[in-house]
Amino acid sequence: MTQSLAPAVVPMNDLSRGIDRDREDFARVFDEVLASGYVIMGPKHAAFEQELAKYLGVLSASGVASGTDALEIAIKAAMPAGRSIVMTAANAGGYTTTAARRAGYNVRYADVDANSMCLSVETVEQHLSSEIGVVVVTHLYGNLTDINELVAVCHSHGVKVVEDCAQAIGARLSGVAAGSIGDIAATSFYPTKNLGALGDGGAIFTNSEELAVRVRELRQYGWSSKYRVTRAGGTNSRLDELQAGFLGVRLPLLDGLNERRRSIVASYVAAAMDGPLQVLPAASAHHVAHLAVALTDRRDEIRAALSLGGVQTDVHFPVPDHLQPGFAAAAQSLPITERLAQEVLSLPCFPEMTDDEIDAVCTAISALR
Ligand SMILES: *Cc1c(COP(=O)(O)O)cnc(C)c1O
Repeated sequence: MTQSLAPAVVPMNDLSRGIDRDREDFARVFDEVLASGYVIMGPKHAAFEQELAKYLGVLSASGVASGTDALEIAIKAAMPAGRSIVMTAANAGGYTTTAARRAGYNVRYADVDANSMCLSVETVEQHLSSEIGVVVVTHLYGNLTDINELVAVCHSHGVKVVEDCAQAIGARLSGVAAGSIGDIAATSFYPTKNLGALGDGGAIFTNSEELAVRVRELRQYGWSSKYRVTRAGGTNSRLDELQAGFLGVRLPLLDGLNERRRSIVASYVAAAMDGPLQVLPAASAHHVAHLAVALTDRRDEIRAALSLGGVQTDVHFPVPDHLQPGFAAAAQSLPITERLAQEVLSLPCFPEMTDDEIDAVCTAISALR
């Protein structure tokens, strides 16, 4: 099929639409930042940190330069003295592996639960040892699972829990926000995330005053105060003033945008009923539908059929961390992780999709045999 004969394509994402929606507010923020003369850690940055902490119900939120930096700094801040291994899932895109390695730690993987696709007590507990200092739990695809028991089990082994909320910002289980359950949490404001900036950005949340102080030192050269390096392992990772201002525009929209994402997934679930594609539900507040993910053991064929129907698809994520050549991880068998990497398929899901586009995806899903 040539490009010119293709029907109108429903894209995986189109960032220009959200930018158009918020253009006037962004322009106002831009003017205010120019007028203030503060371009790093100014009043908009301070205000956004406070608004974010309030929204999540945590003691402290600290802006940093990306989600990967947020993970690196959170892991460093949380790692207990004398330990040096990070345990995580291998199906979450490799960000934690990159961050943990940069922090100077080794990574070991636990398999994931076949239903939630996230770490669970059952998959993690058997591996805990006195070497593992931190478990990073990724709330994959936006799904905040009940990690309360996992956190308790980790704590009983002296292990700290970092939540990776890059896909789950705004998710709430029994009213409790993703990022407020473990010891510390990291998130990303990469433009396609549920709360996206106009460039890179990230943040770290915690309810621990001690960890919050460590994070603020680590993100700025290890300074306890200006030019006084008292904390080892510091770096330079700051969220700039403009991005903080843009994010301040979008934070009040987040719950509504997440609701729209959930409704898109609900449409796909209904359209896929009785068909070959199993669309994972995102039915309530604990799931913010960062991605609309389906399972199929005929992925190539189904992707081709959807593409013919004008629907873009993607795979999150095709290669588990322990099989990435660049990570050169120790050989490990993770049967559920490996099977899911063959079967997951992502459908278009972003809040600015039109109703016509959602209908077009549903039509293409219903036509699958
Ligand atoms: C996007 C993402 C990150 C990394 O964020 P960056 O800002 O791109 O560094 C980390 N973890 C998860 C689960 C992500 O989806």
